[in-house]
Amino acid sequence: TTGLVACADKTPLVGVPGTKFERTFIAIKPDGVNRGLVGEIICRFERKGFKLVGIKILHPTKAQAEEHYADLSTKPFFAGLCNYFSSGAVVAMVWEGKGVVKTGRTLIGATNPAESTPGTIRGDLCIEVGRNIIHGSDSTDSAKAEITLWFKDSEVAEYQGNQTWVYE
Ligand code: ADP
Repeated sequence: TTGLVACADKTPLVGVPGTKFERTFIAIKPDGVNRGLVGEIICRFERKGFKLVGIKILHPTKAQAEEHYADLSTKPFFAGLCNYFSSGAVVAMVWEGKGVVKTGRTLIGATNPAESTPGTIRGDLCIEVGRNIIHGSDSTDSAKAEITLWFKDSEVAEYQGNQTWVYE
């Protein structure tokens, strides 16, 4: 069986880690949005076979940025990071698929674009760590916290997609 039937009713907002219903939070930061890279970035996750289940555009407040990056509050770049993240429109997304948290990070590339491999989003599309265009949850626990922070149940949609051609 495909396993789709079992979860067809309702996948939890935060997904089911370790299954093809795992979910991660991906955000295109204000530089990525203003540089017109939204389509390019979505395209890479789509082509891989992951499923887009939530998407919205919003301008984060400083307080939202501080909450999102709370784990980094002691870092010297924290204030600049929160100013950057709240400096313009952000495209917030929830992506679903087997291994999407870890593989999403692989598609994104290293934090510092100078060290990101060509072929990755940061390796191909940006230069500086302070303007690295995209965020992706770094663990299934942070995915859970971040999806809950940015999305409501009603903002995520279930649909079949072509997943039977993605998984064996
Ligand atoms: P990632 O986004 O790859 O998970 P981190 O969680 O370590 O990386 O950092 C969060 C964000 O903080 C980075 O994506 C980047 O925008 C910013 N950042 C990290 N390190 C620095 C730094 N040394 N100087 C400026 N900004 C930084």
